[in-house]
Amino acid sequence: MRIDGRCHCGAIAYEAEIDPASAKICHCTDCQTLSGSAFRSVVFTREGTFTLRQGRLTTYVKTAESGRKREQSFCPVCGTPIYSTAPGDGPKVHALRLGTVRQRDEITPRLQTWHRSAQGWVGKIGDIAAVERE
Ligand SMILES: [Zn+2]
Ligand SMILES: [Zn+2]
Repeated sequence: MRIDGRCHCGAIAYEAEIDPASAKICHCTDCQTLSGSAFRSVVFTREGTFTLRQGRLTTYVKTAESGRKREQSFCPVCGTPIYSTAPGDGPKVHALRLGTVRQRDEITPRLQTWHRSAQGWVGKIGDIAAVERE
């Protein structure tokens, strides 16, 4: 599936080819902190298909508990997280932050990883009072 996306301020724009079936939610504590939310939702690009159409990303390299390093790239103007990927050169798979994908309404996560650190209320989100607007 061909998709495109952008950050909140519009400084960053990108295109990629994704497999919609690869969309997932991650409940790990790094994703909670780095997304500023309860969990992160991502979709993976097909290798080598990510193209930055506009802007320049800022990158933070995080080291996981396992010692594995991941590049976290975000817009330097508005801070929107765009993707994570393996450090170094060569064709890469990018874990796009689903909230930046324009076609996100057509993509549903099919897996939840690191569920052991999920926030307790996440499974009961339907029970939380909801209004249509702010
Ligand atoms: Zn931005
Ligand atoms: Zn995670």
